[in-house]
Order: sequence, then C-alpha cells, then structure tokens
Amino acid sequence: MEDSKLYEILGVDRNASDNEIKKQYRKLAKEYHPDKNPDAGDKFKEISYAYEILSDPKKRATYDQYGLKGMQEGVPEGFGGDDLLSHLFGGGLFGGFDPFRGGPKRRQRGEDTVHPLKVTLEDLYNGKVAKLQLSRNIICEACKGRGSKSGQVEKCRTCKGCGVKITLIEIGPGMSHQTHSTCPDCRGDGEFIKEKDRCGTCKGKKVCNESKILEVHVDKGMKDNQKIYFRGEGDQIPDVESGNVVIILQQKPHEKFQRNDDNLQVNHTITLTEALCGFTIILQHLDGRDLLIKHPPGVVIKPGDVKCVEGEGMPCYKNPFEKGNLYICFSIKFPDNHFTSEENLKILETIFPPRTEFIMPTGENVEQVDLQEFDPNDKSNAAGNSEAYISDDEDGGHGPGIQCAHQ
Ligand SMILES: [Zn+2]
Ligand SMILES: [Zn+2]
Repeated sequence: MEDSKLYEILGVDRNASDNEIKKQYRKLAKEYHPDKNPDAGDKFKEISYAYEILSDPKKRATYDQYGLKGMQEGVPEGFGGDDLLSHLFGGGLFGGFDPFRGGPKRRQRGEDTVHPLKVTLEDLYNGKVAKLQLSRNIICEACKGRGSKSGQVEKCRTCKGCGVKITLIEIGPGMSHQTHSTCPDCRGDGEFIKEKDRCGTCKGKKVCNESKILEVHVDKGMKDNQKIYFRGEGDQIPDVESGNVVIILQQKPHEKFQRNDDNLQVNHTITLTEALCGFTIILQHLDGRDLLIKHPPGVVIKPGDVKCVEGEGMPCYKNPFEKGNLYICFSIKFPDNHFTSEENLKILETIFPPRTEFIMPTGENVEQVDLQEFDPNDKSNAAGNSEAYISDDEDGGHGPGIQCAHQ
C-alpha cells in the first residue's frame, strides 16, 4: 500500500515537481501560520513536517519507496516538539507509529529567542500593549538565502557536508561518549561558499539583520514570569523552521500592593483612635479608582487584623470580570510617649476596661528591676553587648531573634 499522507497534507500530486511542492507549501504555510490562524492547531506543524520531507530529494525518495516507516532514519530531533509527536504519531494521523525514534539527530527548528519584559502591577491589572523592538535575522532577499551569487556551493571540508561535528569525550577509563554538535565552520549547513562568489548583501551568511517592532499584548490578570509566544518570529535560517520569540513578563515590585495569585494584599496603618473609634479611609486601586472603606465605631481593629474586600483583587487571566479578593492587613500606630496629661490618663482609665488585678507577693523574694529599651535591629544589642542586653548569658539565644509579631 502506498503511503501518500505527506502529499495529501500539502495537497499535491505524488508526481509534483519540487517547485510545485515549494509553492504549495508557501501558500499553506501562510494560510495556517499560527499568527494568522491560531485555531488551526497542529496543521501548520504537519505542513512543515510534510514539506521537510518532500523538499529534500533524498528524504522524498525514501518516503516514496518506504512510506513513513522508511523515515525512521534521518528524522530530525526536536522537530515540532512533543505536541507534534503525540498529534502526528500518537494521536492517530500516522497510526501510532513514531518515525522520530532512533534516528540520527539534526536540528530542524531554530532556537527560541527569549526576551524579558518588565511590567508594573498596574499593567497586569489593566492590561496593556507594549511595543518591543527586536532585531533578528531574516533570510537574505538578494540571494534568497543561498549565500552565493551563482547559487553554487561546495561541501564544508570540516564536516564533509554533514553539518555535524562529532566529538569523543572521555568519561572514564576506557569509556568514551560521542557527542554531536553543530559544525562551527559552516554552522550546520554543510556548505562552503567561495569568497568571490559570496552574496554581497549578506556576505555569504544567507541571512541579514532586521529590526522589527513586536506588539506584546499584556492581558489583564497575566502573571509574573508568564510567557507570551510569537510563533515563528525568531531568527530565520534557510531550510529551518524559524524558532519562536518568547516574551517573559517580569513584574516590578509594587510599593503598595502585593500580589498572591489572584488576590491582592495591602498593608495599612491606622491610629489607635481609629482602631477603637472607627474610621473612613480611601485606598487608591490599581486602575485609579478610589475605594472608600468605612469601618464602624466600636468594632475594634487589633494589630495584625486582616480584613477582606471581596472582588477587588486581580482580574483572573482570560476571565477578567472575575476578580480575586483584596486583603487589608492592619497595623496600629499607638500614640507617642506623654501624649496627654496625667489627668486625662485617669479619665481614660475610667473609660477602658479595668486593669488586671495586681497582688503584691509577700516575703523577701521580691526584687524590683528596670525595663530598658530594646531594639531587635540594633546590632550592638544583638551581638550581646553586656551593658545594653543584661541577661545575655542565660538568655542569649533569644536576643537577636526576638521579633514581636505586631508593633
Ligand atoms: Zn561544516
Ligand atoms: Zn545574500
């Protein structure tokens, strides 16, 4: 039974000429490129794979004769990635047969180009379009990526045209390991172009540098370290599928809000009076709205209390009308020393809950000691300076580590 699947994928006859195949591939590749046709799924990869085989006379001959099974050898590694493998060969298109196993290794897709993009928490909340100027290699127009004026090329002498450099690495006594790497002299092309015949535009490199503006859509709810892919926008290399440009979002720390998944957290300090007698505050949100927050008198806020405003957190990615929660962690600013007269303090005592009852112990074991100021951040204290930190010997372990939960 003849295997014609690759021809069917490209929509060409088994007798199609190289030119027809190329034309048809270009047409389909344009149509199914993920940028233009993101819903086409793996179609683009299938097309690329079919073209990969059929555009190479040797591979095409093998395929014509033996079908996909014949491609068991010489199938590039890393082509298309796992999703393609599972789709083409696990998922049924080629009936569970995996021609990628066991073949020699050759790189067939360009590497991804990774760029960080710094964004603010506001950007991730509101969404934005960032323009990023990138420089990349594109196939030289003048020589159509051949690198030579005449179109003539010779085999690279270093790798004898195979594009792969084989290195033996000794990994132990009598044991060595063979590694394959891209030939440095021809950069894997296997080709050599005479100096005089080199294309004047690209100097025989087959590619030229181009600067391009990418519009990066930072969607509402995207997260720190999230990747945004631009398929096929990486460097172009002749006969190799272009790699992707991968943008990695890097969120700058925000001075007010901390993000925890889809929730936001903010620290807020109120005065003791507000903590006891209620308060009204304005909290400016990431979209510029002023949130008016009222807390009734008589409901006491204690240091470290956390209150929640539902639905005022970050928008959920791809579902921005859903939002997480906003958590407000309260700190209380107590009044300064001697903030009021002794008479007023006596009045306060009548208002506040009564003191804990004090009973003076009897006997001679009572010794009055002084309370000193203690600052856990003060290094002279932490180092056990005996004058500043008296009980150093017995209690030394606590000294530097003491941290009160709330101020
Ligand atoms: Zn070479
Ligand atoms: Zn050129």
